[in-house]
Amino acid sequence: MTVQHETDTGELEVWIDQDLCTGDGICAQYAPEVFELDIDGLAYVKGADDELRTEAGSTAPVPLPLLTEVVDSAKECPGDCIHVRRVNDGVEVYGPDAD
Ligand code: SF4
Repeated sequence: MTVQHETDTGELEVWIDQDLCTGDGICAQYAPEVFELDIDGLAYVKGADDELRTEAGSTAPVPLPLLTEVVDSAKECPGDCIHVRRVNDGVEVYGPDAD
């Protein structure tokens, strides 16, 4: 499936704390366009180029059509390690550090 990354929200980005990732793959099932397990068995984010961003704290934009899937991933992540935040002020809106 082709993802229309030009419809990114431009407002939200997502990152994963791999130190807490259990490697169960729920996120990659929900939103394979944004999350993928690497050969180390941990989940990483990726952007329009489909390249995994494996540096600690790397972010990827949240495409608007996938917002629900990304938010559900954050809510159901067993490791509580998916963080969705606003780009402009860095405030976490979904994830373990959200209000
Ligand atoms: S849902 Fe959370 S714990 Fe599971 S693979 Fe994704 S980031 Fe890791």
